[in-house]
Amino acid sequence: MEQSAAGQGARQSIPGGPAEHSAAGRSLPVRFVEVAGIRRIAGHMVRVTFRGADLADFRVEGPDQQVKLYFPRPGQSVPVLPAAGADGDFMRWYQAFQEIPEPRRPWMRSYTVRAHDRARGTIDIDFVLHAGADGPATRWARAAAPGAVLGMFGPSAYFATPVPIATTDWMLLVADETGLPALATIVEALPKGARAVAYIEVNGPQDELALESPGELTVHWLHRAPLRPGTGEVLVRAVRAAEFPPGSVHAWLAGEAGAVRAVRRQLVAERGLPKRSVSFAGYWRHRLTQDDAPTEADLAEARERAQGWAQ
Ligand SMILES: Cc1cc2nc3c(=O)[nH]c(=O)nc-3n(C[C@H](O)[C@H](O)[C@H](O)COP(=O)(O)OP(=O)(O)OC[C@H]3O[C@@H](n4cnc5c(N)ncnc54)[C@H](O)[C@@H]3O)c2cc1C
Repeated sequence: MEQSAAGQGARQSIPGGPAEHSAAGRSLPVRFVEVAGIRRIAGHMVRVTFRGADLADFRVEGPDQQVKLYFPRPGQSVPVLPAAGADGDFMRWYQAFQEIPEPRRPWMRSYTVRAHDRARGTIDIDFVLHAGADGPATRWARAAAPGAVLGMFGPSAYFATPVPIATTDWMLLVADETGLPALATIVEALPKGARAVAYIEVNGPQDELALESPGELTVHWLHRAPLRPGTGEVLVRAVRAAEFPPGSVHAWLAGEAGAVRAVRRQLVAERGLPKRSVSFAGYWRHRLTQDDAPTEADLAEARERAQGWAQ
């Protein structure tokens, strides 16, 4: 059964609200969330605060928690999503999602829970207003206003990759602005005194954000000029030139897939880091949308990750 909001006002009648997915009875983390507020926090980044009865049982287990967001198609005020079956079978739900005819099926994009305010029942998600061809998520974020409704799946063990926090002498964090929300949650989760060094690539000083951490955090802001996305050259050059602190390290990399690949290769081949000491994720792909099929390189990395998890 699909949940559809045709002809319904957003506030009281968000489909999938308490009547359909009560906190006690939710079988899958499928929710509808409503924009409570939106503000620009950097030159190319907006923070959207979401609320909604569906967030009553929302939980985040640690930093770097991603969710899938579902964006309505033109003419829809609320995205159409399958109802979560009582069996809690994610694959069945996802198949039902894929079977929604394409003109009505919402666009799905991955985002990070930047913050969860349990008392207020809200979550924050930071959207990069990127310079690439406008995709549906960025288009939505540019125009978002209070009352707008998105679908959300997660956080979920299906796509969670727990970050090993403070299990080594120090952490190396490498990201572009799409990885910045996740990186911010990681540094906030560092215990007092834990050491981390971050290399963050943004367009320019207007895109830098204040980062708070109980740990000993050193941040290197890198500005991409001239703009050459997808090459990773800014990050690779900075990480290659870096003087690493002594001791064991775990590296966490997130950003454009080609850049992440290049930094990972460099850390393993040139710095001799064991592959298992590098957590990595391509957050977007130069000239490709999140709907486009995986490339050979994407598939090879997915296989490596699966092997790593199986060990
Ligand atoms: C686990 C995970 C967590 C993520 N968390 C966040 C987050 O918290 N905040 C956030 O803003 N993003 C985050 N992203 C990245 C975000 O999902 C992608 O940037 C996504 O492609 C944006 O969707 P879109 O509809 O705007 O563009 P798409 O339709 O996917 O792509 C349209 C065009 O825009 C280009 N493009 C996409 N992203 C960028 C970019 N950043 N810079 C330049 N060009 C781009 C593509 O190459 C393509 O040409 C995350 C991704 C993953 C996998």
